[in-house]
Amino acid sequence: MLKSKTFVKKTRSGGVMKIVREHYLRDDIWCGSEVCTECKQESTVLQRDACIESSLCSYPHYLIPDTNVVLHQIDVLEDPVIRNVIILQTVLQEVRHRSAPVYKRLKDIVHEKEKHFYTFTNEHHRETFIEREPGESANDRNDRAIRMASKWYSQHLKTSETGADGLKVVLLTNDQGNKQKAEDNGLLVYADIIVHRLLAVAIGADSTYPDLMDKHKQSALSNNLNYRHKMSQYAQRASVAFHTQLFFKSRGILNEEGFVLFVRKNAIIVLIPKFGLEGTVFFDTKDKAAPNLVFDEEVPSLKVEEHTFCIFDKVKVTISLDASNVQHQKIRMALIEPVIPGVSVPAPDVGPQAKKPKLDR
Ligand SMILES: [Zn+2]
Repeated sequence: MLKSKTFVKKTRSGGVMKIVREHYLRDDIWCGSEVCTECKQESTVLQRDACIESSLCSYPHYLIPDTNVVLHQIDVLEDPVIRNVIILQTVLQEVRHRSAPVYKRLKDIVHEKEKHFYTFTNEHHRETFIEREPGESANDRNDRAIRMASKWYSQHLKTSETGADGLKVVLLTNDQGNKQKAEDNGLLVYADIIVHRLLAVAIGADSTYPDLMDKHKQSALSNNLNYRHKMSQYAQRASVAFHTQLFFKSRGILNEEGFVLFVRKNAIIVLIPKFGLEGTVFFDTKDKAAPNLVFDEEVPSLKVEEHTFCIFDKVKVTISLDASNVQHQKIRMALIEPVIPGVSVPAPDVGPQAKKPKLDR
């Protein structure tokens, strides 16, 4: 099966170039596992009895490290105790781009027969290749590809002779978002610094207290770590929002040029380059009768009455701080240009840098 990948690339001179690449998807890429009866493979790499000599995992399992785990824990992966590891093509490519020395070390491990490291070309496998979705970053796409391949393995090996109590696939990731999404997909995941700690214990490079080896206590610990991580992210975002509001608080209603970044069913998201500020112009506000809105997902575009908004359109908006609810102050944006009767607002009288009236002495 042939798929073509199309993407635009910025050239050195500042122009934009459209590139079409052929991408072949195949159905003769094997899983490499000894337990598999489905794949028509002549030789296998991954062993049936894939237990590492440690008390970590009582069941046989294959490890799938994500890119960051390979980059930061290559020394652990090199240890003779760590065997039966699936290296996804996505991970291999990312590692190659990010660190030549680690890439070299990884290739060396893959070539070592006793290590039983299997390279799975998931990017060319008909059932594991995924396309980048609109608005998805290359990074997120690759994370999704890694989850997709892990999920495929986990299901593929389940249907094999060993059955449900047999081999498991464990995705190793430090990435919080990746972990959450993988768990939503029903995958087994080890997260955070626990991964490093447990791997170190597994190879005897470190010892740990018995609690960390307890499945339930480990789960509670992970939950607490994840909770704190999430809260610190919230605090980070809240702090950015707070300072943005402080900045706009004293400036009255501003009138600024911006560009449409995204269109939604009832709104456009506008970037104000001058402030690096993103905001949303809603068209179905409570206090006004909703205008006629037609959203086209394909383009994408949003038609508001007679005007159609597309991505990168230039617009003019007002920016103001809505402090009507002290607990939830918000930056508000409203459309000035293009002028859409009944929708857009008149430009504020004051200039962009409204100064406070000076007091007479
Ligand atoms: Zn197979």
